[in-house]
Amino acid sequence: MGEKEKKKGEAKEGSWKVYKIEGGKAKLSNKKCPRCGKVMAFHKEPNARWACGGCHYTEYAKR
Ligand SMILES: [Zn+2]
Repeated sequence: MGEKEKKKGEAKEGSWKVYKIEGGKAKLSNKKCPRCGKVMAFHKEPNARWACGGCHYTEYAKR
């Protein structure tokens, strides 16, 4: 059943694509928390800011 294998490969490629896009975003949103060193997440709303999921440190983006 080569078809099954093909499907599996496609799915792998698809997830890799998504990962790649995420990687591009990560370039922008890869900021480390100055407090605990964890990767911070970027939030656009209500104000552009970086938030740490570890210690909840928040840094507002400068514009
Ligand atoms: Zn932190």
